Amino acid sequence: MKMKTLNDLFVDQLKDLYSAENQLVKALPKMAKAASNSDLAAGFEEHLEQTREQASRIEKICQELGVTPKGKKCVAMEGLIEEGKELLEEDAEPNVLDAGLIAAAQKVEHYEIASYGTLRTWAEQLGMDKAVDLLQQTLDEEKQTDDKLTELAQSINEEAEAGEEGSEGGEEEDEEESEEDADEDEEEEGAEAVSTGPARGRGRRS
Ligand code: FE
Ligand code: FE
Ligand code: FE
Repeated sequence: MKMKTLNDLFVDQLKDLYSAENQLVKALPKMAKAASNSDLAAGFEEHLEQTREQASRIEKICQELGVTPKGKKCVAMEGLIEEGKELLEEDAEPNVLDAGLIAAAQKVEHYEIASYGTLRTWAEQLGMDKAVDLLQQTLDEEKQTDDKLTELAQSINEEAEAGEEGSEGGEEEDEEESEEDADEDEEEEGAEAVSTGPARGRGRRS
């Protein structure tokens, strides 16, 4: 595509974001499923609904401009989601995984905030009032989502710091020692993938 004007670049980047949002529509249910903290899982579910709406806002803008929103792949979002998948493959304690999921989600939100901020500003420059309004709505949602994640991280990070002990209600005093033993065993026998942690599941904690 030949980019002669800001308008061409605007359309190109709009398509990129449309791809990003659609990739997220597929990724968010998996993140919700992987989250142990029920507030975090519910947050992902809620943002899934918003994300669907955000994609349809881009469709509206494109319709107005007489262009298709399709035809581009956001490789940045592909990479961010890929990193999230790598995390899911780790044998992580539920609280630790939740902390990692928040980190992955905030990277996504920050990419979106940067992208929507730019597009909104370009739409202002181009005098596209309707597009400015729609892009601002999405930008506000992405910022709110980022703030919510920051808030959730406060307690989840604390629980992740405590590790397994924290997730089980701290019933054992010698947890640390037994974990050290487990580490030694692992070194000596090369044992792997011995999962003694609690099963992952939504709503385990309130
Ligand atoms: Fe979004
Ligand atoms: Fe992109
Ligand atoms: Fe988002």
